[in-house]
Amino acid sequence: MAYRVKLNLKKLKIWRSLKVRLFLIMFLMGVIPSIFMRVGILENYESRAVDVRTSDVQTQLRIIANHLITYNYLQDTSSEMIGAELEQLSNLYNGRVVIVNGNLKVVKDTYGISEGKVIISEEVIRCMKGTNTVNYDEVNGFIEITVPIVETVSAQNATEDMPEGTEIVRGVMLTSVSTDSIVMTMEILNRKAQIVEIIIVFCIFAIALVLAQILIRPFDRISKAIGEVKEGYTNESISVPDYLETEHIVNAFNSLLVRMKTIDDSRQDFVANVSHELKTPITSVKVLADSLLAQKDVPAELYHEFMVDIAEEVERENKIINDLLALVKMDKPAAELNISVVNINTLAETILKRIRPIARKKNVEVTLISKREILAEVDEVKMSLILTNLVENAIKYNKEQGKVDVTLDADHQFFTIEVADTGIGIPQESQEQIYERFYRVDKSHSREIGGTGLGLAITRSAVLRHRGSIRLESVEGKGSTFTVKIPLTRVLV
Ligand code: ADP
Repeated sequence: MAYRVKLNLKKLKIWRSLKVRLFLIMFLMGVIPSIFMRVGILENYESRAVDVRTSDVQTQLRIIANHLITYNYLQDTSSEMIGAELEQLSNLYNGRVVIVNGNLKVVKDTYGISEGKVIISEEVIRCMKGTNTVNYDEVNGFIEITVPIVETVSAQNATEDMPEGTEIVRGVMLTSVSTDSIVMTMEILNRKAQIVEIIIVFCIFAIALVLAQILIRPFDRISKAIGEVKEGYTNESISVPDYLETEHIVNAFNSLLVRMKTIDDSRQDFVANVSHELKTPITSVKVLADSLLAQKDVPAELYHEFMVDIAEEVERENKIINDLLALVKMDKPAAELNISVVNINTLAETILKRIRPIARKKNVEVTLISKREILAEVDEVKMSLILTNLVENAIKYNKEQGKVDVTLDADHQFFTIEVADTGIGIPQESQEQIYERFYRVDKSHSREIGGTGLGLAITRSAVLRHRGSIRLESVEGKGSTFTVKIPLTRVLV
């Protein structure tokens, strides 16, 4: 049941509003204490009024009790003075006074009903033993009070058993006084308190409404500012420092904005770079074709020579497009890794076998050093890309008679591929940037040897997809060493 109420409340859109919740909290916090206060004050008044009435009546009764002893009323009820006193008392408090003697016999009843009867009630018997009793009957609206009629033994009546000053209970005065006047006063008080309460409720309602509105305003300002950014009016960072909480939200939003701007900038750079890179071979093709077209009677050898150049440029264009496609595919978050257990040593051997002819052309010696056998859970195609790109670069950017050492090693958690060359090296200032798309230390040289500037971007992306890392150590003129470190088993994200 409670669960269903909660569920329905959740569905109610208005309940999800912070403004409504704040309003309700403030409203209830104002109204509930005021209700408790009214009830508390009334109850307190009632008990105090009953106490005061009781002690007034008790005092009167004690005075009359003394008179009863003095005028020996318990034996002789003819005293008019006492009769008048009792009448006055019962009129004053709108009540009934019953006097009971030591034999529990009623000697006087101001209502005249019970005279001569015997009363055996708990209160009377307790009172006979000297205890005052008070009983407040809330439902019927009266207070029942018993006071003992005590005689103190005087000096001339003193005996050995009862020395002077001994108090003897001779009878009991039993009184019930009406509390109608208290109830009436309480009703008037209650009515007045209710009016005050209604006024308070209205005031609290208005205050809570205004406060909730004011408290929530910074959040409205945030949505407005975010809305403006979303609509594209501005891309300035926003500021709503009113609360610590709003500051946190705004800071998080601003960092997101900066990140989005960086991504947007890099996307724009990328598009510009792609266009430029794709344009270069096409421009060359056009220049070559135009120069052929501009000449008449071109000899067949020249045609052939130009066509070879054109074919080379087309091949370059093709390579760039292939690399771009590989990169885009790698960056796609949905691109799942095709994981299998791969023998890295065998894979490296196969790749080196394929690359060695290129190395031989450049007189570069490629050596594979397998420190141990490595079986790893990796994507074989992406792993081949990593190895191929690194070894190809090590050959491409090497010197005549240079060397490339590919070292494979592993510990219990990771395996490492180290590709060290004795090539031209990479200047310190470029070492951070070489993984960027289209970045080349020496643009013309790279292009000359058929580089697209995408190889290391693809490599790094593939390494990261395997939750690995890539590190470079390089000294210009001496050579470079790329170290790739990848977990042996697949790390589940
Ligand atoms: P490219 O297709 O131009 O080789 P890469 O992304 O593979 O593109 O490499 C980026 C740049 O880093 C290269 O242009 C080159 O300047 C530099 N570079 C990469 N590997 C090496 C290396 N082993 N030795 C020297 N320079 C290198």
